Amino acid sequence: MEKKAYKVLYIEDDYASRLLIRKILRSGEFDVHEASTGMEGLKKAQELQPDIILMDLNLPDISGTNLTTKIKSMPELKDTVVVAITARNSVEARQLSLIAGCHGYISKPIDPHTFPDQIRQFLRGKREEIEFEKRDYYHQLYEEALVNNLTIKLQELQRSNSLLKQRTSTLKDYSRKLEKLLTIINDLQLCHSSEKLKEKLIDYLCELFAFDRCLFLDVDFENLTLKVAVGRGLEKSRWENFHLPFQTQLFRRLFKERQILPNLTIQQIENPQIRQLLEELGSQHFTLAILGIPADAAIQMSSKENLKEFMKPFLTTLTATADIDVQNIEDHLREFLLSEVFYIGGYLFMDYTHPTKKLSSHDLRILDMLLRTSTLIYQNLQLREHLKKLFIRAEKDAITDYLTNLYNHRYFIQQLSREFNRARRHNSQFALIMIDIDHFKDFNDTFGHQAGDLVLQKIGRILRENTRKSDIAARYGGEEFAIICPELNKRRGQILAEKLRKIIEGTRLPFSQDTRITISAGVAAFPEDADNPQDLIRCADVALYEAKRKGRNRVQAFSPALQTTP
Ligand code: GH3
Ligand code: MG
Ligand code: MG
Repeated sequence: MEKKAYKVLYIEDDYASRLLIRKILRSGEFDVHEASTGMEGLKKAQELQPDIILMDLNLPDISGTNLTTKIKSMPELKDTVVVAITARNSVEARQLSLIAGCHGYISKPIDPHTFPDQIRQFLRGKREEIEFEKRDYYHQLYEEALVNNLTIKLQELQRSNSLLKQRTSTLKDYSRKLEKLLTIINDLQLCHSSEKLKEKLIDYLCELFAFDRCLFLDVDFENLTLKVAVGRGLEKSRWENFHLPFQTQLFRRLFKERQILPNLTIQQIENPQIRQLLEELGSQHFTLAILGIPADAAIQMSSKENLKEFMKPFLTTLTATADIDVQNIEDHLREFLLSEVFYIGGYLFMDYTHPTKKLSSHDLRILDMLLRTSTLIYQNLQLREHLKKLFIRAEKDAITDYLTNLYNHRYFIQQLSREFNRARRHNSQFALIMIDIDHFKDFNDTFGHQAGDLVLQKIGRILRENTRKSDIAARYGGEEFAIICPELNKRRGQILAEKLRKIIEGTRLPFSQDTRITISAGVAAFPEDADNPQDLIRCADVALYEAKRKGRNRVQAFSPALQTTP
């Protein structure tokens, strides 16, 4: 009957030793398994259930004594023969391994001739005795070693536990902030103006990262300084007068790299003015960021197709009356997109006054996401706001006389027919005053065309300032003006015209002390004199002609009798 081989597990970190033992125990009598660490050995012992475990006492991860204690504490291994193989001549180590449960030890260097037999003896039940006289001493040593080991293990456990706790809490904080970031971005997208966005952004920054202060810095490109647009954590009176130099290395770096400069300290700042300010503020760690886009992105944005696309929503809402200059708007928009005002939106200053408070790497990642998104929203708002201004101006230009700032001829004609419809609907009345400057040709000839233009501007202002908001005062052409006066009958229109005539007559001209400008005016009204725009203008003109004929500097109301006058 064939004898079954003994299962041998050899736990040894030294490869050469393992190779040697493998060679020595090559015969069919032994089935050798190996492990190079204590933990691997323990695992293999459980799986294999060996007849004998040969163990180096000096393992990298655990001492042989401890490993033996562990093996012997396992029910399935408690009867397994464990033999220490050790180069140590230390009596103590051997005695301790015996106390831990080893059946004995074999000294290194191993003698290949006797080694198999030594093993056989242990397998047959050989057991070495603990030195009798020093028994108590070794036992005490063993216990101390166990306690020592336990204490170290406990400390390790505590350390990793607190590390884990710390990691869990940072992770929790990170995910809480990420969640918050989403709601913030959603809210920022609802902002209707760039000013509102600035306010909200700095509020959120303070909330999310617990900054002590946060300032939004606008760039004043004329004076090359930074001014606080909105701030938190600092009284307004303190930041109202901040004027930081803009052309410094620091801000240039921010602009170039388009990055966040986190957790800076005063020592890192070269500019003395900025340093002084930070000292006054008591900043410990501060973070700077730019809210802007690279210039080449702005160039891309300013392509013709993009410009048209940006303008589209505005063009569709334009009032039908305005005949605006779209090309002009497009040119201005391009100019705006390529200006620093647009692509450098502003800067952010955020700081901590406590020396230990700093942005973590998680914070920095979230801050970066928040600022990238905010920049897009901000530039979008800026673009929209600027376009709105351009359109409002263009609409105004389209109906305004460039010289006098009164309404222009085209708008006057439009409004006159509107006023007809309105008055008819409401069964109301309105007056029309036509005005012509007296002997203006002579004035021009005497004082020059430019002086004449100034007079036209002056009269424009007088007409605007002395009529109601609802009146439409327009430059009809050359040196002629027309005023639509809703709700006024002819007599009251006449009174208004008389008032204007007097004011103009009494106005001194800057370039001549004794020259006075006078006007003549004709007044007609609906429904008294005419029932359509053309006829009403003609009636007021007839009256004006009569005023001139009668010697000028006077107001004449229309009457049907005038028509027949040659
Ligand atoms: P009257 O009292 O009959 O109205 O005499 P007048 O010289 O004002 O008459 P007329 O209509 O013949 O001349 C109008 C002058 O107004 C001619 C032109 O020199 C002047 N004029 C028209 N438009 C402008 C303008 O935009 N600027 C200046 N400076 N003068 C203008
Ligand atoms: Mg004229
Ligand atoms: Mg005239």
